[in-house]
Amino acid sequence: MALTFRGGVHPDDKKELTRKKAFETIPAPATVVIPMLMHIGQPCQPLVAKGNKVKLGQKIGESTAPISAPIHSSVSGTVVAVEPRLHPNGNMVMSVVIENDFNDTLDESVRPHGSVESLSADELIRIIREAGIVGLGGAAFPTHAKIQSGLGKVDTLIINCAECEPYITSGHRTMLERPEEIIGGIRVLMKIYRLDSAIIAIESNKLDAVRVLEKALPQKSSQIKIKVLKTKYPQGAEKQLIYTVTGREVPPGQLPAAVGCAVFNQDTCAAIHNAVTTGMPLVTRGVTVSGSAIANPKNIICRIGTPLSELAAAAGGYREEPFKLIMGGPMMGVALTDVEIPVIKNTNAFLAFSQYEDVYSEHPTCIRCGRCVKVCPMNLLPIYMHMYYQKDMFDELEKLNVSDCIECGCCSYTCPGRLFLTQTFRVAKARLRKRALESKKEAN
Ligand code: SF4
Ligand code: SF4
Repeated sequence: MALTFRGGVHPDDKKELTRKKAFETIPAPATVVIPMLMHIGQPCQPLVAKGNKVKLGQKIGESTAPISAPIHSSVSGTVVAVEPRLHPNGNMVMSVVIENDFNDTLDESVRPHGSVESLSADELIRIIREAGIVGLGGAAFPTHAKIQSGLGKVDTLIINCAECEPYITSGHRTMLERPEEIIGGIRVLMKIYRLDSAIIAIESNKLDAVRVLEKALPQKSSQIKIKVLKTKYPQGAEKQLIYTVTGREVPPGQLPAAVGCAVFNQDTCAAIHNAVTTGMPLVTRGVTVSGSAIANPKNIICRIGTPLSELAAAAGGYREEPFKLIMGGPMMGVALTDVEIPVIKNTNAFLAFSQYEDVYSEHPTCIRCGRCVKVCPMNLLPIYMHMYYQKDMFDELEKLNVSDCIECGCCSYTCPGRLFLTQTFRVAKARLRKRALESKKEAN
């Protein structure tokens, strides 16, 4: 029987719309908009100014903060503006706008670094940092910082190939089309952590990828094992994946390294391999373009900084006026208000939905069915958390561990009363963080 965790849901995943669509690389756009924030942590400062010439792969943003990742130009051309532009997070974020000269003149810094065997762990971590690699499954945590936080603590390396969010198949296509790059990246991580084994964890709805990866593994390799997991959402959430694969439970508020684990997404592994073997930083992205309003759903490789409108056009445009636009998956992605927003490092999907799919209710009502409790993968009590939030009872909310909510959306998905559960918990967590900060200030 395939491995799994407690709770979760299995939505109609609609992956059949794109799972057999091989990546199509679209031409670089005439102008790219590259935000100085494409990761968790501190934003970068622009290293270029209006009028500067830049090359493909040139570093154009940097920060000295430990939790940050440098940013590179995805085309060669001329900087036409350095100014705040609308970001997928809904805010105006400092961005470098580059007019493409369509020459793809490569920056001198882009060159192979040598074999993995010839490089030390420190050199490999530096290469990963300089390439601006972040978690490409959606979290966008700087990869070098994640690696450093687990050094000396990790005994189990897990490659997260679950891709459990509905509609998204860009990671599945990476597994089918670039298995050697994924395995190359795993070998880099094994060397850094001084491990002689790793586990690739894949959901059972991707058995073709299991076969492709098995074939790409060195003959009789016992070092890298593949584990098939039950197809269930949110199988790819870090804590759920670790429990499924190892039986270890990450304590609340702690990182996977606390239980000896490190988890990396398949696209992150491929990016690591490419950074080491070619020297190319993270300047392209594989994106699933799908949803009921998209005429011809497909998987696309584009330059970072490409406007989403160009992805929609490359997928045949809209079948009908889109009612809802999402960057990422329908469960955890972010709603968008503008299609000129650019693709950023962690854009794994762009979805457009028709109005008939809207499940909004004007009068959300709890019918006390208990389904939200049953599906919560974090063992929380969404029904009571929602009630306490409505009554501003923040001490009680804290006691129910609302801060452990991973915002997976399972409760909202399953709620027949159509309550805004996940959104409520997101706001409640933010308010609790603010309250904790304020009481800390008062105490000082
Ligand atoms: S309460 Fe949070 S963790 Fe639990 S199902 Fe809802 S969104 Fe997911
Ligand atoms: S699933 Fe919705 S209706 Fe059912 S108990 Fe939870 S909040 Fe109430």
